[in-house]
Amino acid sequence: MEPPVRRPFIAGNWKMNLSRDESVALAEGIVEQLGEASCDVAVAPPSLYLDAVSQAISGSSVGLSAQNMYHEGNGAYTGEISATMLLDVGCKYVILGHSERRHILGECDKAVNQKTLAALAAGLIPIICVGETLEEREAGKTQSVVQQQCEDSLAGLTNEQMAGVVIAYEPVWAIGTGKVATPDQAEEVHADLRRLLESRYNSEVASAVRIQYGGSVKPDNAGELLSQPNIDGALVGGAALKVDSFLGIIAAAK
Ligand code: PEP
Repeated sequence: MEPPVRRPFIAGNWKMNLSRDESVALAEGIVEQLGEASCDVAVAPPSLYLDAVSQAISGSSVGLSAQNMYHEGNGAYTGEISATMLLDVGCKYVILGHSERRHILGECDKAVNQKTLAALAAGLIPIICVGETLEEREAGKTQSVVQQQCEDSLAGLTNEQMAGVVIAYEPVWAIGTGKVATPDQAEEVHADLRRLLESRYNSEVASAVRIQYGGSVKPDNAGELLSQPNIDGALVGGAALKVDSFLGIIAAAK
């Protein structure tokens, strides 16, 4: 049997940037100029603007992603947002365990795991971020760090649930720094992750899971990264804040 073809997936993480008007204008610009994309596309605006962006992309092929959520369904959790609320405003995806949440806001693998299970139970597609710091890379720990993050963040998922998850490998030293991993460096980690999925789940799951690369992806480096056999898309920060550069990356995902 032929292994499934993984459709590339490009997602833009707007982080804590842009005003409401700028968010809507960016979303409208992407929708207007996207045309027929040969990949899945999503945007992740600040949570306060999810609803407005949802309306701006309504009826288009652009999917909506949140940047975070809480694992509980409802209740006394001041400041938090549940999976059901995200579905309510039209989200299809949720980014979980982004390195900025892990390193600046102290989010641990257990929390990412609770959120992942809650997102899947509600019907959201989680984009699970993993990645090593520069110190860990220089100490030769990249493989063990990334594998441990995956194992702990993805504990308790069924094969079927795992097949629908998106993993984003984002070396922390490459995020927002302009220092992109070389295609070989990224492919090595992606191939390791796929082997891990094969050993923990099975070959069907391993060949179905999309693994995005993230870290200073730009239109001029996207083509080479995305042509690697185990790189199935990109999670884009800075270059997702402009229509031209985001579309340039999408165009590279052939
Ligand atoms: C990110 O926010 O996930 C990211 C990869 O940012 P940048 O593209 O700016 O490095």
